[in-house]
Amino acid sequence: MNSLKKYKTTCCYCGVGCGIVVTDTGNGRIHVEGDKEHPVNRGMLCSKGMNLHYTVNDKTDRLLYPQMRMNRSMPMQQTSWDEALERTAAVFKTFIAKYGPDSVGFYVSGQCLTEEYYLWNKLMKGFIGSNNIDTNSRLCMSSAVVAYKLSLGEDAVPVCYDDIEASDCILVEGANPAWCHPILWRRVEAHRAANPDLKIITVDPRRTQTATSSDLHLQINPGTDVTLNHAIARVLIERNWIDNDFIANHTDGFEELSAKVFERTLEESALICGVSVDDIQKAAYWIAQAKGFLSMWTMGLNQSVIGVNKNLSLINLSLITGKIGKPGNGPFSLTGQPNAMGGREVGGLANMLASHRDILNPEHRAEMENFWGGTKISDKMGLTATEMFKGLESGKLKAIWIACTNPMVSLPDARMAEAAMKNARFVVVQDISSRTDTIKFADVVLPAAAWTEKEGTMTNAERRVSYLHKIGEAPGETLADAEIICRFAEKMGWGAHFNYKNFGEIYQEYTRTTEGTNIDVTGVSYNLLKQNTVQWPYPAKDRNAKGTARLFEDHQFYTANKRAKIHGVPDANESESTNNNFPLILLTGRIRDQWHTMTKTGRVNKLKQHIPMPFLEIHPHDAQERGIENEAIVEIKGKRGSVKVKAKLTDEVKPGNVFLPMHWGRVLGNDFGRANNLTNNLVDPKSKEPDFKYSAVEVVKYQKP
Ligand code: SF4
Repeated sequence: MNSLKKYKTTCCYCGVGCGIVVTDTGNGRIHVEGDKEHPVNRGMLCSKGMNLHYTVNDKTDRLLYPQMRMNRSMPMQQTSWDEALERTAAVFKTFIAKYGPDSVGFYVSGQCLTEEYYLWNKLMKGFIGSNNIDTNSRLCMSSAVVAYKLSLGEDAVPVCYDDIEASDCILVEGANPAWCHPILWRRVEAHRAANPDLKIITVDPRRTQTATSSDLHLQINPGTDVTLNHAIARVLIERNWIDNDFIANHTDGFEELSAKVFERTLEESALICGVSVDDIQKAAYWIAQAKGFLSMWTMGLNQSVIGVNKNLSLINLSLITGKIGKPGNGPFSLTGQPNAMGGREVGGLANMLASHRDILNPEHRAEMENFWGGTKISDKMGLTATEMFKGLESGKLKAIWIACTNPMVSLPDARMAEAAMKNARFVVVQDISSRTDTIKFADVVLPAAAWTEKEGTMTNAERRVSYLHKIGEAPGETLADAEIICRFAEKMGWGAHFNYKNFGEIYQEYTRTTEGTNIDVTGVSYNLLKQNTVQWPYPAKDRNAKGTARLFEDHQFYTANKRAKIHGVPDANESESTNNNFPLILLTGRIRDQWHTMTKTGRVNKLKQHIPMPFLEIHPHDAQERGIENEAIVEIKGKRGSVKVKAKLTDEVKPGNVFLPMHWGRVLGNDFGRANNLTNNLVDPKSKEPDFKYSAVEVVKYQKP
């Protein structure tokens, strides 16, 4: 009889949130398989999920005990938790006393569990008295967050995964789910196999795997998404393929959009976008004909200096056709990280408070001040991700605590980020791995437990909250992140407010902050989640339900007047310009088998086999002009730095565009491939999300010095 213990939990890689069954095979080792009963993946796993156990079983690079050094010319020394946290608290108190609470900051991650995120926020906003906490989710989701709030009144994904099977037209824009959200894509493909009439349209400057499997690929020029979405809207309006009753009864702003989309002829728009008028009309026709129209998007829209406008122009298509709040319909932002949504629920951005409250709203601040019983919450917006590092560079921010993320590879304009870290007066790095590019800048290193060594909750892209079991003991002296935060709070003198009997108590405290809000989860508890995953909102009165699969079925939106807002936004791109020295547009993005900065996937040999080294996709025409052959080493030169990689000649990119994957940094891939040597630090003015997908570069054949 097999006596090995099995646990149902959730894959920790991406926002799809697949259910997995983990078998504890002893000695800290595990085996992973897909959970056949899970509503998200029904037993399926992608290549990353299938190989998840290697990231836990291989402990060669695990941080096992706290370390610190008194200055950066010294090597790190092992120390005790008490010493490490006492020193950190002493430094934080000194800076706060001398320069004020805004002199310190926390930079955390969409990989953190909801309980951890909640505590980081409570500590910084409710007790330290600054709003300087931001997250790497700022780099991927914040444009969608702002656009949902502006159009639907709330950062709330209105659809669920089951809408895939109820749709008959899917528009994928600025996303490559075939590689980056593979289980969702398999559901799309299975739906198409059963329903050959399903139309899939992909909008992407690259011919990705998703584009190849689509019925129509609109291969637009980078930065022209708003122009394209407006052109589609124009066709829908011109042909009266819109839902006039829905527009009249449930929306505002249609006239503004209508005026905007008629500013350009279809021919002009087609020329700007680099696609044909026929294809724009075909896309509009398929959207109009569909009983179920689902749009899906991710970084191609979000990571842009006009990311919010791109999002709004896409959401408009659902609103003017009334294709929202019904099975198979709605605008669906595909979350990148496993708990980006959970982090926002507890207020994990510099402009938010718990339960989607706003920092700038005095009533919201007062509610949380009363709830936490700590210090007065600052009415000043905190520093966002890139602002924090600019703050370190300028000396305005003195100390930063970085948890579960590797900004030296993931932040734009890596040279500026490095200069910032060198200039920081005090850096704490909390991680599970010693192999990150960020750790070498640390004054204090805190070893954290991995996802199978702690318990807590996460929320996936369809608002589904899951419980993660603690499966094995954390090695060495590592601690769960939530415990580290509570111990630090105690050293700061706020122990009574961070004194929890268990992790469930932290979660229950968070759920109480949601009472009466749009994201009410007062009916959710660990006990419930150990039986089932549930989708929010899930108020206490719905205790026996599975939550809310789809929002706005009553067409009552979360805006003040309950009407959705259609926006007519400008379509001009505001990215940096190409010029004679830097004539090519650099696009960055992911590859199928790697995740973020490879701190996990880079350790799995099987995953390296797919694409082992960074590469530059360049069109044969551009390569020929520069005397570059396939596989030749090239130097990509930008306004801020350079990168050397092998060239891959392909017509998957258009002439004038080149593509470089974003995963490689120095530790795992040497300096050859760090894409962020080239990216710029422009951000969307509303979401503060960086413009990762549009930088001016030149490519030359590499000449050895
Ligand atoms: Fe994990 Fe995402 Fe793959 Fe699902 S799709 S197995 S959540 S990496």
